[in-house]
Amino acid sequence: MTAMPTPYAHAASVATVGMALRWAVTALRKTSPSGQLDVETLVMHITGFSRAELVTRDAHVLSVTQVADLLRLVERRATGEPIAYLTHKREFWSLELMVSPSTLIPRPETELLVEQALASIPTNVAWTIADLGTGCGAVALALAKERPRCHVVAIDNAPATLDIARKNAWRHKLTNVEFLQGSWLEPIDARVNIIVSNPPYIKDDDPHLTWGDVRFEPDYALLGGVDGLDAIRHIVAHAKHYLYPDGILLLEHGYDQGIAVHSLMQRHGYVNVARHQDIAHCDRVSICQIR
Ligand code: GLN
Repeated sequence: MTAMPTPYAHAASVATVGMALRWAVTALRKTSPSGQLDVETLVMHITGFSRAELVTRDAHVLSVTQVADLLRLVERRATGEPIAYLTHKREFWSLELMVSPSTLIPRPETELLVEQALASIPTNVAWTIADLGTGCGAVALALAKERPRCHVVAIDNAPATLDIARKNAWRHKLTNVEFLQGSWLEPIDARVNIIVSNPPYIKDDDPHLTWGDVRFEPDYALLGGVDGLDAIRHIVAHAKHYLYPDGILLLEHGYDQGIAVHSLMQRHGYVNVARHQDIAHCDRVSICQIR
């Protein structure tokens, strides 16, 4: 191992779970707003221990490899790399999902998109659902799990991303999902009942892009052009040609884009346009139907 400045050098002598936790928390104190949680997640990842075992096995001695791995991950976390990319996973809708730097990290607010989709899909129907820009498959797989009689078409333009989504479906034994590569609606070859999407919608020059996890996430999953609405405009304009009569379009968008998305949907002839707020009371999801 190459020589590292303190406190990393100190960690090379760390031997127990308890000592590793204390050292890592100190090492991340300045750089991570969620240091304690991050460190617990990293130690759980390295040891395979549960959160409870971090306490009950406090005196467990770590191997040299485990210490070296922890050291490397803490260093990467100190540069801001998202925890989900370090552990290659994130939980969404009670599904543990594999993620990679080619996928957006699923956000808790996107569970609202799933909730609203479920509110629109009766429990016993055998609908076709399309998820555009599926990423690691979060929305598509949550819907496939909750509506086992439905057929879910999960679409993404990036083959590497689609590969992750496919593995996630396989891990959770969700066989009612089909994966298609292509841009937005293009791979759809028959009408569907509902189209859902969490497209990129951040403005290209949004100052939020300079801090936190987004710095490490792919631009193609985040950036929506000058006003953030490029992908949404494309989807709203074209989705109606892929929906059955009364078909539903449901989109996630930025907290300040609710009114713009509402009028876009109306201008394109959709009816029953409505928007829903996330737990922070921000407009986050818009829904509409085509006649
Ligand atoms: N909600 C994400 C964020 O604000 C953006 C996700 C997206 O562009 N679809 O970081």
